[in-house]
Amino acid sequence: MIPDILFFQSDSIPHPLAVLGRVFLLLSLLLAVLWATKSLFWAYLIVGIPYVLSSSIEITNVSILSSFIEAEGLQALRYTTSGEIEEFIGGFRSYVLMSFVVIAIYAYFLYRYRSISLVIKNRTTLILLASLCLLLSCMISTAGVVNSSLYYSGQNLLWMGLKRYYIQRHPFNLYYQIRAVAKSDYQIYRFKEAKESYRFGVQRTIDATSPKIVVFVIGERIRYGNWSLNGYARETSPNLDKIENLISFDEHYSNGNVTYTSIPLMITQATPQTYGEIYAQKTIIPLFKEAGYETHWISNQNVFEYLGNEKESDFTYELFRTRAGDIGLIPAFDSVVRNNPSRNKLIVINMVGGHGRVPSRFRVFSPNSGDGYTPVSRENAPILVNDYDNMILLQDYVLSELIHLTDKQGVSAVLLFAPDHGSNLFDDGTNLFAYGSAHPTEKETHIPLFIWGSHDFVEGNEKFSNLRNHKNLLTTNNDIFSTLADLANIQYESFVRQKSIADSSYVEPSSRFVYVHNEVMEFKR
Ligand SMILES: [Zn+2]
Repeated sequence: MIPDILFFQSDSIPHPLAVLGRVFLLLSLLLAVLWATKSLFWAYLIVGIPYVLSSSIEITNVSILSSFIEAEGLQALRYTTSGEIEEFIGGFRSYVLMSFVVIAIYAYFLYRYRSISLVIKNRTTLILLASLCLLLSCMISTAGVVNSSLYYSGQNLLWMGLKRYYIQRHPFNLYYQIRAVAKSDYQIYRFKEAKESYRFGVQRTIDATSPKIVVFVIGERIRYGNWSLNGYARETSPNLDKIENLISFDEHYSNGNVTYTSIPLMITQATPQTYGEIYAQKTIIPLFKEAGYETHWISNQNVFEYLGNEKESDFTYELFRTRAGDIGLIPAFDSVVRNNPSRNKLIVINMVGGHGRVPSRFRVFSPNSGDGYTPVSRENAPILVNDYDNMILLQDYVLSELIHLTDKQGVSAVLLFAPDHGSNLFDDGTNLFAYGSAHPTEKETHIPLFIWGSHDFVEGNEKFSNLRNHKNLLTTNNDIFSTLADLANIQYESFVRQKSIADSSYVEPSSRFVYVHNEVMEFKR
């Protein structure tokens, strides 16, 4: 019970009920095993050991990170060299020791009293009791789903309830997360050799015509409609509004609606129809490396474990560890872009975007959440929209600073920005908020695509005029790989001109596809 009690304050289920639900769950499990094995020893061993183990680990996690353990956390535990982890383990030590003591005591008593037998007179009563306990526990968690932001997620509520209130919670969560890590590890392992030996077969490497600096910025939870640059009534992008040689595409869409499927689709050649390729092929970073670029990845969100690609770039900056938010990208980028000016550079930036904190000077639209937190509900929609728009103000500032710092180098340079997906904000009277719904809405997938070129890059460059001409065509994150390569004059075996938005022969697709929960969905224009 302890992890649940510790966790109750961030829970949408009232505290005593949450604990009660868990008590009933444990009881039903114990009774069911008791019924099956007819032995107290086995019941306490089978249910107790995994339960005590989960308790110890989740208590530690909740105490330190105030959440149940996630696959990322388990991954992080494996790489014990980084500063954060040392601090994590350091803070952990007494807890880890304590959990070993608890497990040892539990095992001792189990062994000591192993011979206590139980005479079960009525097995039917036992199973009825177990079912009743389970039912009560289910009822409590269903009440929880109805009272939470999940109610507005547009997903299957029964499945989400099961996942949110059982599978992703103590005592199942630990094992569920271990399974998730093992599953992605297996995919990465299965395709390791294929990936390592993968070559793009670059036919044209860097020369005097190649842009000196290519910046690829991956946004997070950014939708098209909330930028004044895209016609939004509020002035949310005062900085980008003034920048020259910046093209904003009007019909650009993401091909996933959650981060962990969208980002791999952005940085590889995989499409929703060929999703498995994310494991078998290299990302855009080795393509630029093969062409002679020095490669940098500045990560403000730890997404490497999706693909196991943290070692692909020449230089990796794990900025998310500083928890400085997107504002922290500016000084980091400044030193990268200025350093070693003789080399051609690809700089990939992964922003924290719509998940990050907004510094007070960007909290222009109010009422907003300030330093606090606003529960997700339709009544709070105005506050949540103000929070979102303030976040766009911050994004606008950071992106414009990245452009200024690049421009200052006085060389041929190009910057492309596209996010992983958009977000619902209780639009048009719907009950939908955030993203990841089973049937992705327009707001979840209609995203901005900004491409900026420096004076030296734009002048007399047919590719930049092609981009301008294609501003109103349907484009998707599928096109980013070929377009970035094309803008850098990189040609490789699988390059198809018609897939580059910068090529005059770009073919506008008649429909777009979105990868949702292992399924490909088609959306006609
Ligand atoms: Zn995302």
